[in-house]
Formats: sequence, C-alpha cells, structure tokens
Amino acid sequence: MAFDDLLKKNSVRSPWLFRINAGSCNGCDVELATTALIPRYDVERLGCRYCGSPRHADIVLITGPLTARIHDQVLRVWNEIPEPKVTVAVGICPISGGVFREGYSITGPIDKYIPIDVNVPGCPPRPQAILEAVALGLKIWKQKLGLEA
Ligand code: SF4
Repeated sequence: MAFDDLLKKNSVRSPWLFRINAGSCNGCDVELATTALIPRYDVERLGCRYCGSPRHADIVLITGPLTARIHDQVLRVWNEIPEPKVTVAVGICPISGGVFREGYSITGPIDKYIPIDVNVPGCPPRPQAILEAVALGLKIWKQKLGLEA
C-alpha cells in the first residue's frame, strides 16, 4: 500500500480541529469552548480533537466578521493548514458580517477570500448546531480524502 493511502486510511479516525478568531465579539468562541470543555457537546464524541497548530489541522472553525486589523494574519494562518482541509464558518459574522456588516473596519465576509464548506448561522449558534456542522465537516473531509462518496 502506498504511503499516501496508508496515511489516509489511518488518519481518517483522528481529524484535528483548529480555531481561528477573525475578530469575533467572543460570543461564538464561548459556544465553541463548550465543544471542548463540556462532555455533553464534546467534539471528541465525533472522534475529533482540537490542536494548537494550523499545520496539524484538518477542519478549521472560523468565528468573527474578518476585521481589517487581522485580515492578513487570518489568511496567512488559513493558508498554513494543509490540504485537504474543511472550513466551517461559525456564526453569522463570518457568513455576512452580522451586526458588523459594512462597518469601516470589516473586510469580510470571509467567503470573499476563503472557500467555506459549512456555514453555521446564529448569533451565536448553539453548541448542538456547531457539533452538527463538525459532523458534516467530517463527512466532507472524508469525501475530499476520497474515502466516502
Ligand atoms: S455571530 Fe454574534 S456572537 Fe458570533 S461573533 Fe458575531 S456578533 Fe458575536
């Protein structure tokens, strides 16, 4: 079996999640924290874990409307995540700018610069919706790896 195939076969059960805060008010980040800290909503139930480096990530969760101040850093960090990756926009801010839409300091919505695979609307979305989005992201990630139709 080729090394790439071996890697795909064995990595599919252990995708890493990574968070990027693109200027959120922290409301969405508090909800994201529940998926790391509270057993009921723990993403580990889906076989995922959060990691501390974009270079290890498979699924990235982005919060916030993308502000001018951190625009370049967000794109740089996102580009550091290896392909195939799945991008999940958490909250209405990354989708449309939300309450910050058309603000002078906003360069988003994020899909102007980054392809989004899953949107999770809400301000903030409930943990159940985030978990559902991660489950969908997992399915898309497997499809990108060629392990699922
Ligand atoms: S969607 Fe709402 S809770 Fe989330 S970052 Fe935007 S304003 Fe804050």
